[in-house]
Formats: sequence, C-alpha cells, structure tokens
Amino acid sequence: MEISGTTVLTGLLGSPVGHSISPKLHNTAFKKLGLDYVYLAFDVDTSSLQVAMSGLKSIGARGFNLTMPNKNLGCEFVDNLSPVAKMVGAINTVVNDNGILSGHITDGIGYMQAVARAGHNIIGKKITILGAGGAASAICAQAALDGVREIDIFSRKKNFVSRTEHLVDKINSQTSCIANFYDLRDELSLKNSINSSSLLINATPVGMAPNTADSIVTDRSLFHEGLVVSDLIYSPEKTTLLSLAEQCNCYIFNGYYMLVYQAAAAFKLWTGFDMPIDV
Ligand code: NAP
Repeated sequence: MEISGTTVLTGLLGSPVGHSISPKLHNTAFKKLGLDYVYLAFDVDTSSLQVAMSGLKSIGARGFNLTMPNKNLGCEFVDNLSPVAKMVGAINTVVNDNGILSGHITDGIGYMQAVARAGHNIIGKKITILGAGGAASAICAQAALDGVREIDIFSRKKNFVSRTEHLVDKINSQTSCIANFYDLRDELSLKNSINSSSLLINATPVGMAPNTADSIVTDRSLFHEGLVVSDLIYSPEKTTLLSLAEQCNCYIFNGYYMLVYQAAAAFKLWTGFDMPIDV
C-alpha cells in the first residue's frame, strides 16, 4: 500500500491501542479492494479526545473508531448519533461528512450478523444475556431495534446498574421488544429465562484467557437441547461455557465474527464498500 497525496485517513482513538488488530483488519481490506485509504492507531484518552476529534475533522479524516476509554465521552463531540448509539450512550465509529460528525456503535450490528452467519434466526424470539457492560448494551439495543421479542439481562449488579435500568426503560418505551433486568444470583429467574430463550449470550469476561477454566454457567441442567449458546470471547476459541453447552447438545459460536463484522460495518460506513471478510 502506497501513501499518496490523496490518501484518505481513518484510524482509532483509544488508550492503550498498541495491541489493536484494527489497523491490520482495515489496511488489509483497503489493499484488497485497491482503496486509497489508510488506518492508523493513535493513543488518545479522554483528556485529549475532544482536541483529537476536532483535529481529525479539520484535516478531513474520513472517520475513525473509538475504543476504551473513549466510547461514552465521544458522544458529546459528534453532531448526530445513530438510533442505537442514542439508546446506548456510546459510540465506536465516527463518520466525517464534510465536517459533520455522525456517531455509530457497530458492536450490536456485528453481533447480529455473527448470529446470522452461524445460521440462526432470533428475530421474534427471546434471548438471555449475561453481563450488562458495553458489549451487552450495544447488543441489547441492536437486537431490540432489529425485532428480537424479549431480552432478559442478568448481571451481578456491581457496575452499570443505573445505565442498564435506563437502557431497559428505553427499549421498553421505544421498541416493541420487552426487556428485563435481573440479578445474576437469582437462580430461579435465570433458569426460567434460559429455559424460555432461543439464545444465551455470555457478555462477561468470565472464561477469557488466562482464566480459561472459569465459566459463567456451570449447572448443565440450565442448557436445553436446541439452545444456541454464544460467547463474546474469542480467545480461547472454545471457552469452558461453550464446551459445556456443546456437551449438552447446544449450538455454539464464539465472538470472532462479532469482532470482524463490527469492523466491516465501520468500513462500509466510511467507504461504501463491503469489507472482504474472507481475506
Ligand atoms: P464491560 O463493559 O467491562 O462489562 C463487563 C460485564 O461483565 C459487566 O456487566 C460486569 O458486571 C460483568 N462481569 C465482569 N466480571 C464478572 C464476573 N467475574 N462475574 C460476573 N459478571 C462479571 O466489558 P465489555 O466491553 O462489555 O466486554 C465483555 C466481554 O465481551 C469481554 O470478554 C470482551 O472481551 C468481550 N467483547 C467481545 C467483542 C467481540 O467483538 N467479540 C466486543 C466487545 C467485547 P458488573 O456490571 O457487575 O460490573
């Protein structure tokens, strides 16, 4: 890939960003499609986010991603928000249209596409999600807007409690989906919820490397045949939760394609082209 006088800038603002695979994903896709774009990672935290976003706008960058710790604060520095971003109060993608910045959150789009890629249809059905952080809220808002019938959110209620209550209120008042928020320690509600759901999602870090023996669900009786169990974690590829679910004849998939499709959604917003996923 050659940088020229007309190369279009995109990138990532977060801290830390050195480990990010986003530059590799986007630059590989630009190269494959012959697009004169480049994607760079910049170590920017909330103390300099406003200046960095304003600078990127002034120099005509086409857009950028926001990652931790900038996803919430970034909402304050854009001109408009997508419906899902408005509901969640966070953005991971900004598009610059001639000085007008639009904020989007593509994690939920990425997840819904990963569900479809895995061969499942959850529209009109009920889902149970464990965890109520950034990823869970993006998925819940997108799923509700896409037509999922009911969402039960379970968390240990240590953090994110009022934010999740707020999200549940918005889903219930602004969409036709019914959302409920439970304590993860409420075993009966968890059992009833999973029993009446088509899909169970782990949106907590439990089971992620290096603590790969951990699982957010250990009671095998909670898995019914035909249940789809998905883990947002992709390292390890098969978490203990997914192994247990597989042993109980559930369908399983991990978080790899959510990661790829959330990037593809940002790529499409900036370039208008589909990211060449298989590459
Ligand atoms: P986050 O905002 O920090 O939220 C984490 C959630 O997990 C919170 O609800 C937290 O509970 C809960 N939690 C944390 N430790 C727990 C424990 N030991 N037991 C029970 N609950 C626990 O994180 P996030 O950004 O949503 O990410 C969540 C997971 O998704 C991570 O594993 C992350 O790597 C993965 N992820 C994957 C993708 C992808 O593209 N595949 C994208 C984003 C995230 P409290 O609310 O009580 O604190």
